[in-house]
Amino acid sequence: MRIDSHVHTFPDRLALAVRAHLGANSNGALLDGPLLADVAASVQARGFDAAWALPYAHRPGVAQGVNEWSALEVTRYPWLLAGATFHPGDANLAELVGRALRELGLRVVKLHCAVGQFSAADPRLAPLWETASALRVPIVIHAGHRSGGATEEDEVDELIPVLSAHPDLPIVLAHSGYPAISRTLELMSRFECLYADLTPVWLSPIPITGASIRRFPGRFLFGSDAPNSPLLPQDAQNHIQALGLTEREEENLLGGTAVALAGLPTAIADSI
Ligand SMILES: [Zn+2]
Repeated sequence: MRIDSHVHTFPDRLALAVRAHLGANSNGALLDGPLLADVAASVQARGFDAAWALPYAHRPGVAQGVNEWSALEVTRYPWLLAGATFHPGDANLAELVGRALRELGLRVVKLHCAVGQFSAADPRLAPLWETASALRVPIVIHAGHRSGGATEEDEVDELIPVLSAHPDLPIVLAHSGYPAISRTLELMSRFECLYADLTPVWLSPIPITGASIRRFPGRFLFGSDAPNSPLLPQDAQNHIQALGLTEREEENLLGGTAVALAGLPTAIADSI
């Protein structure tokens, strides 16, 4: 079972806005179309059985509509696990979280601190941590919020109070906190519910060693950032091969850990 646990889906208007923004910085290097149907097709074309479909909110007030869309439209593709997103500035965040995670049944959350311009330590996120922890819904978080795609050590540290207060809440640090990777590994040794994904930051693959992955069995996930990555599927393949993992370790990285955290999309689970 191969799962890409970092793929982005948005309603059309937002998908096109994100693409216009990234396209301007990429010299047309993005190969896959940005709309939901394009993303769903490319997951399969790249040889994955399933993917976590992660939206994100660039400002308060966007998440509600995006989450409703995710539950209605993304679930039409049985191999996509529909995700939710939130922004600390959302009005009635507790209600919004309950709607998305309890009523709509969305099973993974993405927070993007860089795009949304907020910190993981924002106290207004408390209702999200509470509910996600109670339901064991994993939260993928891009913790860096100051510059481009980078995450600094103190931005990784902003997760410490959350990890301390919610020892059962699975948090997946996007891009393994690149370039603050050694800080991420330190926190992973302190907090068992901290996971990390190997999603590249634009053209930079995550420089993590096979030894680090071995040190934390079942705690790393594969992510491509499709459709917003200029890297080719072959680049990701080469990166993984160079890690020198055992078959078991590679299975965990490419799907086992994702299944352990969020299960399979229902249609796939039913067909097994
Ligand atoms: Zn991403």
